[in-house]
This record gives sequence, structure tokens and C-alpha cells, in this order.
Amino acid sequence: MAANSTATALQLIEQMTRNADAVQQRVLAEILAQNSETEYLKGFDLGGATDRETFKSKIPMMTYEDIQPLIQRIANGDRSPILSARPISEFLTSSGTSAGERKLMPSIKEEWDRRQLLYSLLMPVMDQYVKGLDKGKALNFYFIKAETKTPSGLLARPVLTSYYKSDLFKNRPADPFNVYTSPNEAILCEDNSQSMYAQMLCGLYDRLHVLRLGAVFASGLSRAITFLRLNWKHLSHDIRTGSVSPKFTDPPLRECLARIMRPDPDLADFITRECEKDTWEGIVTRIWPNVKYLDVIVTGAMAQYIRTLDYYSGGLPKACTMYASSECYFGLNLKPMCDPSEVSYTIMPNMGYFEFLPIGGGELVELAAVEVGKEYEILVTTYSGLCRYRVGDILRVTGYHNSAPQFRFVRRKNVLLSVDADKTDEAELQAAVEKASEILTKTSVVEYTSYAETKTVPGHYVIYWELMGGGAPEEGVMERCCLAMEEELNAVYRQGRAADGSIGALEIRLLRSGTFEELMDYALSKGASINQYKVPRCVTSAPILELLDARVVSSHFSPEAPRWSPERRF
Ligand code: AMP
Repeated sequence: MAANSTATALQLIEQMTRNADAVQQRVLAEILAQNSETEYLKGFDLGGATDRETFKSKIPMMTYEDIQPLIQRIANGDRSPILSARPISEFLTSSGTSAGERKLMPSIKEEWDRRQLLYSLLMPVMDQYVKGLDKGKALNFYFIKAETKTPSGLLARPVLTSYYKSDLFKNRPADPFNVYTSPNEAILCEDNSQSMYAQMLCGLYDRLHVLRLGAVFASGLSRAITFLRLNWKHLSHDIRTGSVSPKFTDPPLRECLARIMRPDPDLADFITRECEKDTWEGIVTRIWPNVKYLDVIVTGAMAQYIRTLDYYSGGLPKACTMYASSECYFGLNLKPMCDPSEVSYTIMPNMGYFEFLPIGGGELVELAAVEVGKEYEILVTTYSGLCRYRVGDILRVTGYHNSAPQFRFVRRKNVLLSVDADKTDEAELQAAVEKASEILTKTSVVEYTSYAETKTVPGHYVIYWELMGGGAPEEGVMERCCLAMEEELNAVYRQGRAADGSIGALEIRLLRSGTFEELMDYALSKGASINQYKVPRCVTSAPILELLDARVVSSHFSPEAPRWSPERRF
């Protein structure tokens, strides 16, 4: 199903976007016909209708919480057609959570054809802007995450883990546009630190062939560069000797590295020379001089990493190529070399059926009818059984490509803090502060706010606390509070901390007495109304952060990672 040549891919994009509305109607009719006998759709009495009007008049919007009992039944082994007529092949675990756990998105085997189709369009689009990418390699840092099984034996894992473990990826046909320096054995190694080490080694050996450097999200690429900063001595030692370090305990990875590694003292000297320099500015282009762009998502929460990446890469272009989720793959950026602030994604109308809920109120709108300049929450109806499902992403329409609208990713609904795939909302932060403050015996938290600190790599949460009386509790108490907060945060956060190393230790900064009064005075001086003033639970503006940081009395970090296990409650 994948487009197998550049010309076919570009033609397909043109065809789909010229006929966006007709394609959407066809997709909806196909989904409704395919799933007409499901328990879910039968409950709405469509009487076999597959048209838009009947669908709109009879089917309500859906949230994860609405279908959670149905998901639970599927997880427990009920194989009757509940949401999808086709058998559920696995659950994709979203980084969005419900009651502290990853949401489980049902998926069917055929969905991979659609996802693969979208992947197959990316390089043909890129080839229009950057030539010669078929003459070299990509150093992409890709990782798998832990998976688990439901009580009935269905796998539950993140969508990319499912993809990298699939034959589609492992046995992909040779394609000069997609030659990776990372061998499959390195990507598929479950131990993320062995995986990272191996991918970096291979990327260094092949450094002159590398034409693009990437990771899924900007946070991942920043982490890879930091990994090089912390480990270049070991890496260059291994390259000098050409021997496989004993730290590789994964047998397939050891065997694979034994085939690749060779002593290369010149390369080891070169790495040492570059990494020893006082500055790491431009390190990416110094080590990989032929890199033309960074292949990373820097939209949404990832915009926080743009400055770091610019510093390390000397401002290389950052290509945000696609917009996708566990629920559905949405679309691609038809101008991938544009500035991050200009990125718009064109939703491909054949991926699912899309509707848009205007922010600020109004009726659901169809894909081809959204208005330029307006913001909407995206809803999706999928072949796997989601119906008018609220994804939680807010998008702004920036224009049209043919008759398909293009969207800027504005933000995720209700997310206060995020440094990687984690998403913490206000209620979760509040619960964590409450839990941690139970540890305080002689004082209590008067006020708090927070900040996602991404200048450190990995990024970490900073929580500002003002305590009653302004005094500091005895030694060790605040550290326990930090850990108690982390224990209370959701599973994606705890996994990032405990298993993936993608989030650093939570920090509490104690503020001197009266700081939140000053913060209010500042807001009032900027025109806030005293009656409506509320303490912001997350701050991002530089002057406010300066004000807070100038009043910090002490700073405390979580001494260890919170508990996390791939097993979950079903
Ligand atoms: P998950 O369901 O864990 O795969 O996460 C999917 C979510 O990641 C989406 O709903 C978005 O909130 C976010 N996301 C995915 N692609 C992009 C992108 N290109 N830009 C910004 N955010 C994105």
C-alpha cells in the first residue's frame, strides 16, 4: 500500500488533497459499513446508514472515559465486536493518561497499511527541498519501550514500539532514502542505555555518510547530544580498540557490534579533539559535517528545545515532518524545511474521518469546512472503532493545500507541564503537592507554582513552594517531598524518570516568605484585576521566573526515581 516512488507519492498527495471532502465521505462510509455490526454503533440505531448526516445526527462525541468500560472488556478477553468488527490486534498505549495510567487505544492490523502509507510520503516530500538524501544515511535515535500484556494476552505498547518491532520496519525493503546508521539490533535493544550507546557508536563510525540527524522528538535528540557529552571518552576508547565493550550484555546487539566495530585510532583522535574543546557550540556539524538538517519534531511542547538544538547544531534547519498519535496518524508537513514557527501539518483525508470542535463554542465542523485563523480541537473516527473521539489537541487553521486544510499545532488541552512525552495537568500537580505536603509536620505549603526546566538535559520539573513562616524544614524532609510528588505523578512521567531516563529528578525550590504576594503585585502592575487574580500554577515568562528565582532560599532534588513497572492494573 505504500507509495513506491517519489512521483507516485506526490501524485497521491495531490489527489487526496484535491478531493479532501469526497475522500472524507468515502472514509466515513467505509468505517460505518465495516463497523455497522459493532455493539457500539448498534447502540445508536444507524439502520445501516453510512452517510454523514445520519452519522452526525445520531452519534455523540466520545472521550476516553466514556469508552473505558468497553476497553476494559476487550482487555479482559471479550472478543465480540465491541468497537471494531475487525479483531483488535493490540492496544497502543498513549502518552495521554486517564486516572494516572496510559490510555489504551484499540488497534487493528490493517491500520498499519495506513500508517505505512503516511511514512512512505515523507521522503518524497523532503526530496523536493533537499536533494541527494539518497546518497547517504540517517542517524536517527529510535528507541523501544517496555510492553505488557492484558489479562487476555493482548499486547499493550506505544505505537512506535509496535512499529519498530514489526516486520514492516525490521524487514523493510532497501530504500536509498531511508538508510539508517543504527542497526535494527540497536534500535530493538530493550535497555535504552545500551541502545543509545550502540546507536551513537554506529553514528560516529559512519559520521561522514550521515546526511540527517534525528529523533522522534526534540527532547530525544537533545538527550543524545548530552549522552555524547557524558560518554565521548568511553566511545572514543571503544573506537580506538575496535572491541565490543562489556557493557553490551544484549546478545544480538553484541553480535551485531562485533561485525561493525573496527579499530580506528584516527577517528578516536578526531572525536577526542572535538569533544575536548571548551565549547560544544556547533558540535553536531563538527562531528557530522555533511548533515543537512535535523529530523525532529519541535512543535508543541517540543519548542522548548529549539535553542538547545540551535546551539549544538549551529542553527541547522529542523524538519518537523509529521503529526501523528496512537489514535490515528494525521498528516504531514508539505514544507518540511520551513522555520519551526511556520510549521503547518496537512491532514491526509484518507487516514481517518476528522471533525473539528471550535474553541470557544459552536458545532462540529468537517475537515474541508474549517476556517482559516480559527482554533479547533480535533476529533477522529477510525477504522479501529473510535467514533468522534476527542484527541485533546488544539490546532489552528493556517491555510489550505488544494482543498485540504493545514493546521498549526497550538497545544495539548489541559497540559501544564511537559518535558518529554509526559503530560501533567493541573489536577495531577495539585494532587502531588497535596500528597507531598503531608510529609511536612511543622509547616505547610502556602502557595506553589511550577516550571518545566529544559535547559538541563534531560529536562525536569521545578516546583516553587512558599512555606508557612518561610522557614526550611529539617535536613532531608524536602527531598522526601520531591520524591513523594514524583510517586504521585502519572505513569508516563514515572516511566520517563525510572526507565527511559528522559526526565530528570524533580526539584522543589523554596521561596522566601511573601514571594507570592510580590508575584500578585507584579501581575496587578501588568493590568490583572485584583478580583480575578489567581496564582498561576505554571509559569513560563522570563520576568516572572527571574522574580521567583531571585527569592529562592534553597533548592532540593528527588534523591531517587519513583516507582514504575511496565505491569499495570487492568
Ligand atoms: P501518543 O498518543 O503518545 O502517540 O502522542 C500523540 C500526541 O503527541 C499528539 O496527540 C500530540 O499531542 C503530540 N504530537 C504528535 N505529533 C506532534 C507534532 N508534530 N507536533 C506537536 N505535537 C505532536
